[in-house]
Amino acid sequence: MAGYTPMIQQYLSIKADYPDAFLFFRLGDFYEMFFEDARKAAEELEITLTSRDGGKERIPMCGVPHHSADMYIGRLIEKGYKVAICEQVEDPASAKGVVKREVVRVVTPGTVMEERMLADKENNFLAALTRRQGRFALAASDLSTGEFYVTEMAGDTETAVDELAAYQPKEVLLTPNLGEDSSFRDELRLRVGALITVPRKEAFPPAEERERDLADHFPGYRETLTTPLLEEVASLLLTYMKQTQKRALSHMNRIERYDSRRFMVLDTSARQTLELTRSLREGKKTGSLLWLLDRTATAMGSRLLKKWLDKPLLDLRKIEQRQEAVQSLVDDLILLEEIRDRLKEVYDLERLSARIAYGSANGRDLLSLRRSLETVPDLKGLLSRSGCGALEAIGEEMDPLDDVVELIKSSIAEDAPVTVREGNLIKAGYDEELDRLLGVQRDGKQWIMNLEQREREETGIKSLKVGFNKVFGYYIEVTKANLRHLPEGRYQRKQTLANAERFVTPELKERERMILEAEEKSVELEYRLFTRVREKIAAEIPRIQLLADQVARLDALHSLATVSGKHRYVRPRVVEHPGIRIEQGRHPVVEAAMKEGEFVANNTDLDGRENRILLITGPNMAGKSTYMRQVALITLMAQIGCFVPALRAEIGIVDRIFTRIGAADDLVGGRSTFMVEMEETRLALSQATSRSLILLDEVGRGTSTYDGMALAQAIVEHIHHHVGAKTLFSTHYHELTRLEDELDGVVNIHARCVERDGEVVFLHRMEPGGADKSYGIHVAQLAGMPRAVIQRARGLLEVLEGRMQTAGSRQLELFALERPSETSSVTAAEEEVLTAIREWDLLNQSPLETVQFL
Ligand code: ADP
Repeated sequence: MAGYTPMIQQYLSIKADYPDAFLFFRLGDFYEMFFEDARKAAEELEITLTSRDGGKERIPMCGVPHHSADMYIGRLIEKGYKVAICEQVEDPASAKGVVKREVVRVVTPGTVMEERMLADKENNFLAALTRRQGRFALAASDLSTGEFYVTEMAGDTETAVDELAAYQPKEVLLTPNLGEDSSFRDELRLRVGALITVPRKEAFPPAEERERDLADHFPGYRETLTTPLLEEVASLLLTYMKQTQKRALSHMNRIERYDSRRFMVLDTSARQTLELTRSLREGKKTGSLLWLLDRTATAMGSRLLKKWLDKPLLDLRKIEQRQEAVQSLVDDLILLEEIRDRLKEVYDLERLSARIAYGSANGRDLLSLRRSLETVPDLKGLLSRSGCGALEAIGEEMDPLDDVVELIKSSIAEDAPVTVREGNLIKAGYDEELDRLLGVQRDGKQWIMNLEQREREETGIKSLKVGFNKVFGYYIEVTKANLRHLPEGRYQRKQTLANAERFVTPELKERERMILEAEEKSVELEYRLFTRVREKIAAEIPRIQLLADQVARLDALHSLATVSGKHRYVRPRVVEHPGIRIEQGRHPVVEAAMKEGEFVANNTDLDGRENRILLITGPNMAGKSTYMRQVALITLMAQIGCFVPALRAEIGIVDRIFTRIGAADDLVGGRSTFMVEMEETRLALSQATSRSLILLDEVGRGTSTYDGMALAQAIVEHIHHHVGAKTLFSTHYHELTRLEDELDGVVNIHARCVERDGEVVFLHRMEPGGADKSYGIHVAQLAGMPRAVIQRARGLLEVLEGRMQTAGSRQLELFALERPSETSSVTAAEEEVLTAIREWDLLNQSPLETVQFL
């Protein structure tokens, strides 16, 4: 550091503590960055890179104005960086030497609090993971809502990463032992795409301090964090929050431990293929199940609904409770609408609480809180009259927080501004001293207003004016022509304009001083009063959070009921014994994208015994994978308490859904489609129980015919003999349909198609039995494949089908059959004629014209 100016030395010593963050170094009205930070920030933010004298050399520098810093910070956070904000912590005027500076907060992707950087319907999770002796502990927390979850699990890396991925965290903290495991980091990076932070060993406080921190935030935490691993992971996360935020986080006061086995297990692949919260193609919410089901009126409700989708229930009683509430709301549309109208008035109580605790809530936030709370009595009333036990219970739990409403009503001005340091925040009558100070200002201003009249009378100058400007304060203005009417001595000249002079009098100055002094004092007092009100409310945050829970719950139920009613869903009978029976089931999302009545409903009968494996055949595009997904989605919807798109449904609770559908090429991971396919299938075979549901779509397709067929059959047999899970297995190997005769639990169904005028028509109807043809060539034709290729394929098919009869087990060498001379069986001239015939407009020509044409 030697040779640098004292300020740069100060910079370097602070920067040393934040090597992985941009250091925003406050210099007057700017945040400056230096050295490497400056180069990188200039590039990322597209701002000008300059330089400054650093003592022994010129050093790179760039900066952003402090009033627009939020925007730049937001952009860096979005790109996955961290920003350490370093402020001047003493008054530069009284500082000796370099002004003292300190980092007051580190903003990281997982600890964002700013409204503009947060999506209101999405959580912003920071997660932490530890591993010891084959066990993992996970913690996930959202600073902007105060949620804090922990869980511990045995199992492999995949299980832990799946659980983590469900939170879609923005940032993941790892203990050093996990952080050093590069294969683990790679796996994580691949599947979670979040910023990974491995706090340095020095960042871990000693045991006593950790315990004290935990106890401060979560009194009685020992009842929740019952193992050393849970304690470690919670502390890892909490410590990081405290070290980055550097302030009290009193809204972080609840810790929720859950057992992931109490919910339906959905791994990353299942979440993706079933498009639970994001669509496959665009990776956005639009087109996902959540998109369909989310008709919530509040952001809290929306976030909770997503959690429900991420964690469907296994507990029959809890499912029935939700069903009961949904039923009552579906049955009483007026009640439903009234509830929705009230919910719309409720702001995001979770994030309001967080801002109140964090000290960033302003007057408008408190007014929003008040308006939200004022709807609670109405909601309570509606719920108590609902006649539904589940809804009544929610209503009873709702605390209208009358005391907080009263406090805000009496203290915060109805038109409070966004700033908290410019006054106009506090209502008259709330504080005597404030009223007095405001009175002084009012009287003073009144006196000045009257002054104009008095001075005019005294001087006889009709055009005399009293005015105010920021530089000179109050003044008396007299035009040059009238100057001679002014009495001597009483007026002091202040400013000269082109055709007027401005004066003050000692009296006026005295009034002005009183006004300004009172103003300064009152602004300061208002700020103090405001923060006191905010602190008083902060003390009630646990109550606000409980209320938020109830509102979110009601909203999520209201959303399920709204969708269930709108799309004519029915209440499924959810049962403990195995079996999925669906009468006239529909795919909720595909149906919603179609015109009324266009979607073809289908039955499903999986009793878990004789019918436990459905072998589905039928050509591509016939609707097989839609059907498979539909069964999974209906099951899942049933287990979150929603009604389902069917005429009738009975769902035996499913503990896990496995999927192997479609081409999920893992190009980044460097695994081939076939490899991914086999890995996902292995997962199903090794982890499924008899209560699981497995969807396997054309497994084996990725390799040569006999290979694939052999694998497919072996897989079906294995599931049949050893797993016993309910399985939907689609295949285009018709040969497999004979398994129905050989295995008790296998049943054939097929997606029915008919040929009409040489074209295939997909009926999208699942019918008993196997398909007799694959129609692949027809589909190719539909897709506009050149006629010559289609013709050639037809020819080949015939040859192949002939060979199949004789070739036995020898693998076919498809491409050896092709000879160049045969590539086209239609000549150019023939093609021309055929085209003309195809284009002939038969319907609009007379028979005679057609004959002549031919
Ligand atoms: P497969 O898996 O057999 O290749 P898909 O399930 O992908 O076929 O379905 C192909 C298309 O057919 C889908 O895009 C969908 O639009 C339509 N489809 C599928 N099932 C139905 C249905 N039951 N009713 C109406 N259209 C359907």
